[in-house]
Amino acid sequence: MHRIVLAIIFIGSWATTGHSEEVRCDDTDVIVFAGPEDARLVCDVAKAGSDLLRDCGLEPDWPVQIVVSEVIEGAPTHCIGQFVCGTGRITLLSPETLAKRADTAEMFPGMTPAAIFASLVVHEMAHAALSHTAPGLSSDLTTQEYIATAMQFRSISPPDRARFLEAWPVETPVDMHGLNQFTHALAPGLFMSRVWLHFDAPENGCAFVAELIDGSARLGLPDL
Ligand SMILES: [Zn+2]
Repeated sequence: MHRIVLAIIFIGSWATTGHSEEVRCDDTDVIVFAGPEDARLVCDVAKAGSDLLRDCGLEPDWPVQIVVSEVIEGAPTHCIGQFVCGTGRITLLSPETLAKRADTAEMFPGMTPAAIFASLVVHEMAHAALSHTAPGLSSDLTTQEYIATAMQFRSISPPDRARFLEAWPVETPVDMHGLNQFTHALAPGLFMSRVWLHFDAPENGCAFVAELIDGSARLGLPDL
């Protein structure tokens, strides 16, 4: 769902959306490049999202820039959101563009494009926060995705989350070894269900995220 690259992306990429303007959110240090409606949606969710992140000890390097676009330059076609390390910049497909994608509707059954989009804002903000709070984890894809997905699913409404878990059922308690890069790549729906149900277990939550960040817990397949 995201791609981390160290290169600087072009400054003009957001301009391709046509009606974009730069909007500074009132109550959080986020700068949005989007049409007025999408910018309002980003600002609404960015404040709530940053509170969720802070609650788990994660803080982006402000300001965060969020570009809403019809395309994500240079990203694979399945990519619907991207954070680029070193730039503080997130690019997301617009709700309107998400609405046209059958793969997104299949992945998040019953969720409106605006709700999917809002959850992706939180997902990518979590990547941005991790690159600032825990730069050593930048190449640990599984941990990055665990934390970004956990924050994303915290932000999703309980009925939408319940529908997702029904569409992508997994066994509980979640086996930590099932939280690995292969499941993430080959069965992202199952990966996300596992992440949420693992994170949501009373003994895990933000305490487990803290262990991932300080290195006392690790995800992935066991060493051979
Ligand atoms: Zn991601």
